[in-house]
Amino acid sequence: MNKLRISIIDLIYNGYTHSLYNRAMLANFMSIMPQVIGVWCREEGHEVNYSIFTGSQKLKNFSPDNVDLVFISAFTFTAQFAYALSNYYRSKGIVTVLGGPHARCYPEDACRYFDYVMGLTDKALLIDLLHNFEMNSSFGTYLTAPAQPKTLPGIRQRWEFIEKVHRKMSVVKIIPMIGSLGCPYNCDFCIDSEIPYQVLDMEEIKEDLAFLVKTEKHPKVGWFDPNFGVQFNVFMETIESVVPPGSIEFVAECSLSILNERNVKRLRRNGFVVIMPGIESWYEYGKKSKTGSHVGMEKVKKAAEQVNMIQKHIPQVHINFMFGFDSDAGELPFTLTKRFIDLVPGTYPSYQILSIFGQSTKSNFRYEDENRIIPFPFHMMRPAHTLNIVPKNYTWEEFNMYMIDLLKYSFSPRAIYRRFKGIHYNTSRWITLLMSLTVGGSGKKRFLSDMLKHIRKDPDFQAFLTKESPQVPQFMREKVKKDLGPLWYWLPDKSLSYNPNALSKAESYYD
Ligand code: SF4
Repeated sequence: MNKLRISIIDLIYNGYTHSLYNRAMLANFMSIMPQVIGVWCREEGHEVNYSIFTGSQKLKNFSPDNVDLVFISAFTFTAQFAYALSNYYRSKGIVTVLGGPHARCYPEDACRYFDYVMGLTDKALLIDLLHNFEMNSSFGTYLTAPAQPKTLPGIRQRWEFIEKVHRKMSVVKIIPMIGSLGCPYNCDFCIDSEIPYQVLDMEEIKEDLAFLVKTEKHPKVGWFDPNFGVQFNVFMETIESVVPPGSIEFVAECSLSILNERNVKRLRRNGFVVIMPGIESWYEYGKKSKTGSHVGMEKVKKAAEQVNMIQKHIPQVHINFMFGFDSDAGELPFTLTKRFIDLVPGTYPSYQILSIFGQSTKSNFRYEDENRIIPFPFHMMRPAHTLNIVPKNYTWEEFNMYMIDLLKYSFSPRAIYRRFKGIHYNTSRWITLLMSLTVGGSGKKRFLSDMLKHIRKDPDFQAFLTKESPQVPQFMREKVKKDLGPLWYWLPDKSLSYNPNALSKAESYYD
């Protein structure tokens, strides 16, 4: 087979920005799968050019114009950027392939703009594609493997790509690592809830960790497992067998259910400095936080006690919350969250707003049946920003007002000061401060305040929210245009609109 020239572009952000946070931190969210694709392509003897986009990289630096294939990895909120890029490369005769969460959530829509769209991807599927690909004139081809791969190339194989990103970073440099796929819990909004939980090869992980100990001075590793430490002892024994205490710092997202004091102390001994558990809701998802039947204020107190215990040992704790569930009603969920903030001053609250992503989970049928999904342009669907279903117990105005009020409270000067004082670890303090002042507080507040203004005064937006009109409101078009910069020219016509009932459509399509 001829040696191919392949570009891989990981879209971590959806537009051009001067944000300080993006410049300093966002590259730490580089995805693992595009690097895996790069390793597999190289193992087949092909030439690979790898790049990421965090908001400032120029179009000409993404890829040379003389490649055979461009792989683009996109979240749904970076999809419009990806569609425009694909159009640009296809105009030069280059075949384009989409991967990442958007490909799994909206494969049919993505097939309108890409030659190939890859769902679950393993090496065999990739090799097939590399042997036989062509530009699809009208509609792309959706390819998916039956399951997630059993093994993935580790840090040593991906090192060249990681180093390329780190060379351009100055402050915190996190090395992405993964030890498990899927999740045994069944939070119905989460794409990972439908992937069977599996632990990857621990011997490989051991070798990766040993490699880092040997080659890097004080490396920081971010575990990208959807839910780290489900097999807690297995992971701890692996780390303890090769990582001398204090030689690597770790960041991980894990459930409160495993974070008893004994486990938390062990995490600290093993170098864990940031832990991100999810509470999500004061009324649901008690299983993963092990708060069982406790709801409302009872759950707040129980969770606060546990989180304060965690923070005694772990320097930086982020707690994930989600709003927009049908179980939320009135002011209470927001008031309870404020009480929680008061009880755990050193913790960083990370607020998400429920977004329903196409085919991500089967439970999305419920919202399609009720005709509640609003086709916000993908570009607006950052989970932290946009509720894309008609709220069950709120008007749009009420919901946005409560969210803004909660953000004001959580990122007030008083709350930020208490958080700063509550963290006893210098780097964590300053990172948390930077996040509180940018993405966490003011960024979301600005976005939601702008939405609120349009909810109140913009007849086009009102008609869009009540489904009287499918027309994307002008202010959203303007936002996409501004963010895409020179790529707006390449955004295909009509690609801001799509069928919001992607799951029902897919079922009828495959029947
Ligand atoms: S525990 Fe976390 S990773 Fe697991 S299903 Fe729930 S939200 Fe997803």
